[in-house]
Order: sequence, then C-alpha cells, then structure tokens
Amino acid sequence: MTALLSSDGGDFSLVCDGCGRVVGNLAGSLGDWATAWGLFSQDGWRGSELAVGPHACGRCAAPPSGIVARALDRPSLTPAGRPSPRMVVQLLSDVRAIYLRGDLLPADDARLWDLLSGEPGPYRHLMVDVSGVRRLTSATVDVLVRASRRAAERGGRTCLVGAAPAISDALRMLCLDRLLPGHADQLSALEWLRGAHPVPC
Ligand SMILES: [Zn+2]
Repeated sequence: MTALLSSDGGDFSLVCDGCGRVVGNLAGSLGDWATAWGLFSQDGWRGSELAVGPHACGRCAAPPSGIVARALDRPSLTPAGRPSPRMVVQLLSDVRAIYLRGDLLPADDARLWDLLSGEPGPYRHLMVDVSGVRRLTSATVDVLVRASRRAAERGGRTCLVGAAPAISDALRMLCLDRLLPGHADQLSALEWLRGAHPVPC
C-alpha cells in the first residue's frame, strides 16, 4: 500500500516503495488520490494508477510490488488456517463471505491474504462484512484490493457490507470505492454479486 491512511482514516500520505520517502497529509491539500497522483506523476513519480501501488519517487526505480505486498508475499511461518477471533469465514454457495470484527492486527491481514490467495475452490465472488470494524488500515485495504482483482480474473465480484461512514469515506478518498463497492446489507450484496451485469473492469 503506497497511499498510507492516517490512523483515523481521514487523510493519506504517499510513500515511495523504493526508498520509503513519505509525503504526508495529502487529503487536506489535494482532496483525493486521483488528484494527488496526477500531480505527483507530473513531478517524476511513477507506478500504478491505483492507490495500492507500487509507486516510486523520481529518485528510485519503480519496484515490482509495494511494501505491504512484499511482506505478504513472503512464505507464512504460521498455518494459514489458524483461527482469529477477528475473522469468520462462511461459504454461501458461490460466495465466500468473510466477517471482520474489532481492530484488525497485522497478523490478521497476513492471515486474510493467506486465505484469499490460496486455491479459490468453487467460490466465485467475495463478500466482506465490515460492519464489525470501525476502520480499515492501509494493509487491510491492500489485501482486499488484491483479492478483488484476483476474483475479477475468474469473473467474480467483490463487495463490502455494512461499511461505517469512515470506511466508505476513506475508500472514496483513495478512489478505490469502485473496486470495493459497499452495500448496506447482505441481501442486497448477494443480489449484486450474483447479478447478471458484467463485472466492470
Ligand atoms: Zn524513492
């Protein structure tokens, strides 16, 4: 994740995945990710159009992946199936439903990625219920965006359920609300996931 969310989710900084240089508090001056990246890319920054990166400042070569991705792609030292009280997985026919609760720890992000990067099985779509969490960290958003792109490669859709305003606002600020659209409840989410409309790409 190279657009680093502030602890309250109301602001973001741009981080170079090469040298770690941070340009802070961009929401107040530039508003959203698209505006910020438009300016920084004119200033020599390179990388993904998406806030999840990777991105590199003008002094660095563009890295193949971002800081979070590099950490998550390392082989896990703990079993992927190890349970977490902050994460419940349910299988609803062709939808994998994940319920997140409380304040997620970095280990939960790693566990979530282990879960979502493994063999997809018969589950085409991904529904992530975030009604039990107050906010999402940059690392969790990174994992969910990567999972949504992975699902889309198989023709699947991804959505959130019950996102608090702070979460919806943060995703909108990072221009990731199209990749991780939100629904008020499970019923409307399941209808959308299984809808006949093609997945936007
Ligand atoms: Zn750099």
